[in-house]
Amino acid sequence: MPTGGTARFASPVNVLDFVKIVSVIELDDATSRTISPHAARIARAESLSAHAAAADLRAHAPLPSEATPHAPAHRPHLRPHLADVTGYTPILPFEVLSQQLGYSPAEMVKLDANENPYGTSPKVRSALANLQFPHIYPDPESRFLRAGLADYTGLPSQYLLAGAGADELIDLILRVVAEPGDCILDCQPTFGMYPFDAEINNLRVLNVPRLPDFSLDLPKLLAMATAHQPRVLFVTSPNNPDGSILPDDTLKALLALPLLVVLDEAYIEFSKNPQGRIGWVQDYPNLVVLRTFSKWAGLAGLRVGYGAFPLWLIDALWKCKQPYNVSVAGQVAALAALQDLPFLQARLQMLLQERAVLFQQLQTIPYLTPYPSQANFILCRVAQPYLALQVKQELAKQGILIRHYQKAGLENCIRISVGTPAQSERVIAALRAIGT
Ligand SMILES: *Cc1c(COP(=O)(O)O)cnc(C)c1O
Repeated sequence: MPTGGTARFASPVNVLDFVKIVSVIELDDATSRTISPHAARIARAESLSAHAAAADLRAHAPLPSEATPHAPAHRPHLRPHLADVTGYTPILPFEVLSQQLGYSPAEMVKLDANENPYGTSPKVRSALANLQFPHIYPDPESRFLRAGLADYTGLPSQYLLAGAGADELIDLILRVVAEPGDCILDCQPTFGMYPFDAEINNLRVLNVPRLPDFSLDLPKLLAMATAHQPRVLFVTSPNNPDGSILPDDTLKALLALPLLVVLDEAYIEFSKNPQGRIGWVQDYPNLVVLRTFSKWAGLAGLRVGYGAFPLWLIDALWKCKQPYNVSVAGQVAALAALQDLPFLQARLQMLLQERAVLFQQLQTIPYLTPYPSQANFILCRVAQPYLALQVKQELAKQGILIRHYQKAGLENCIRISVGTPAQSERVIAALRAIGT
């Protein structure tokens, strides 16, 4: 707007009105890498996606010492949602931990991961020792193993698919069923892999906490299912870490919802109904049942799990799974376990007997309240002023490993896997010593 030069002395706006104060903070590369993930998170919270993308790039820029002369200045950026993923905290390997504590692995009492203290059957060991074709890729369809599983479960093998542990199948199901941004229903406290895999797959996790006795909050679950249209609901029976069972009528109510129900039966062999509900898969088109050889069959290190799936879903899983997901050793070992059932079941009986002994002994420890369990572990509430973490640390000093929890629904809790009679004696003696 022409002002005839009067703006020089009579303008209502001044140059200073347009001055913006800018502060420049210079960061070295290492500091920039440290704070950039936080900057990205804040930017994302404020919907500033370009800022977030720039911060992601800075977060992953190589330090000058890491950069090779031919390396590009930065890597292609990561999928943005990963910035908000907590990720899995790796455990210390058993051998390293025992060494740190000053024991040989054989001296340790390992009751922290629900493994089978007796190991696996001698038939499995000799099958592994005599592997004929470890140099040949495994059967992508695990035919022999699935035939054995069909006998074991009573389901036709077309419903069955094996995985590198049940863990692999949790991820595979989510990749096939849910799209980024979809949500899943989770009922904590329970197994941690469901929210973990959901987050990796860029899914939102709706947690419907269990009631104080660890049963499901059915009215809340039904309301959430209607309000948010989740794709998948994960339920665990017996539940980890408390060992409670999901009743039939609750499962039926959940199966009436328009979502996929994944029933994780990792510990079903230890329960009063060891057949479990895998047979229901033939009757319910929205039910998946997961199982594993890690616990009852003692194959945790070989990574073999399986699932029973409705046929519409299993076709998609076959399409998407890694072709050689279950190793030659894993397939052979799991089949050998199925061919040595009387032996493994005898050991299972020993563990069930020991569960009863351990439970009764834990009840005599004044600061512990054990929960009845239908799995191979017992959850205990620790009474103040004792602290679960300190109990765990005190036991670790003596070469005894257990798990502790301090989170919603599991305040001041420990979980002890059922071991051999000798292991129970050691853990009970150590717990008793703390209380005196
Ligand atoms: C241990 C466990 C699994 C994992 O089994 P893998 O076959 O070893 O992957 C699955 N679900 C629950 C509830 C578990 O506790």
